[in-house]
Amino acid sequence: MFTAIILTRAEDKSTQAAVAEADETDLPEGDVTVAVSHSTLNYKDGLAITGKGPVVRSWPMIPGIDFAGTVADSSHAAFKPGDRVVLNGWGLGETRWGGLGAKARVPGDWLVPLPDAFSPAQAMAIGTAGYTAALSVLELERQGATPDKGPVLVTGASGGVGGVAIALLASKGFEVVALTGRTSEEAYLKGLGASAIMDRAEYAGPAKPLGKERWAAAIDTVGTHTLANVLSQMKMYSPVASCGLAGGMDLPSSVAPFILRGVKLCGIDSVYMPKPERVAAYALLAAHLDPARLEAMTETVGLADAIPAAERLMAGQVRGRVVVDVT
Ligand code: NDP
Repeated sequence: MFTAIILTRAEDKSTQAAVAEADETDLPEGDVTVAVSHSTLNYKDGLAITGKGPVVRSWPMIPGIDFAGTVADSSHAAFKPGDRVVLNGWGLGETRWGGLGAKARVPGDWLVPLPDAFSPAQAMAIGTAGYTAALSVLELERQGATPDKGPVLVTGASGGVGGVAIALLASKGFEVVALTGRTSEEAYLKGLGASAIMDRAEYAGPAKPLGKERWAAAIDTVGTHTLANVLSQMKMYSPVASCGLAGGMDLPSSVAPFILRGVKLCGIDSVYMPKPERVAAYALLAAHLDPARLEAMTETVGLADAIPAAERLMAGQVRGRVVVDVT
């Protein structure tokens, strides 16, 4: 048996969350069993635990879309007991049991070796947000972004994805401008490496088809009018990585940036990203992210406190990241 948060569905279809014992023989199929030490609360986990969004597709469910820990048992050629591993996505906490329990069983092909640079707790402070930021930076570089081409805009800058994106880009020598609604966070954003901040109100209204060319690359976590304004102000042939919808799912734009400036809009999905890109994202994080930077914005809770923390997350009362110590 092992301890986990277990979500069940009541007759009235409401979600019940409790810390309880789960049976190891009920773990899903997979060739690697992991002793999970840490997970984290992502927005998706908050939706699952509170029942506020249709994240969970089978019941009962152990939530947690990511985890870090140590291999306990393996018949996969690449992993042996004691190896430190991290996992993001692949439907964990949605369609199969996830990281908010002391044991998880997964196909070894989904696991990434945890770089020496990070402890499991630090890997979860980075979390799926930081890993998605790294995937976005890699995509911009794949599309030709280099520091000499001009400033890079990061939207939703004080969020989890935005913060790590700023730190990675700045460490690679890019000039980074942070678009934020929290201008009071200027010192924090500059501390991460932003050279300037910009009020998100400037991009909150409808976009013109084309505006002044400002950005050599951009990472957008917001969507809707924000992304439309970003697209209209991109330089010729520049790339935009679209990875979030914090402001909304629509995109009220036109084809003008694409057909008149050759702007490249690149989608980032972290959940089913193939393994080579995952390994590259963690290598980028290991080389360019100082985990000490995350400590000031990280709160650590145990499994039992993760349930009220999920409520706080949904109520917008959490600043920074919530790491869950599962041990
Ligand atoms: P956070 O909630 O930590 O940050 C989002 C930020 O967006 C906020 O801090 C705020 O930044 C800004 N924001 C929030 N609401 C609005 C609004 N209405 N209009 C404009 N800006 C707004 O989220 P994460 O950073 O963890 O995630 C960002 C997005 O990326 C989310 O939509 C998430 O679902 C998505 N995501 C996608 C993944 C993928 O695989 N593609 C993986 C992980 C996350 P500020 O106060 O600075 O303006």
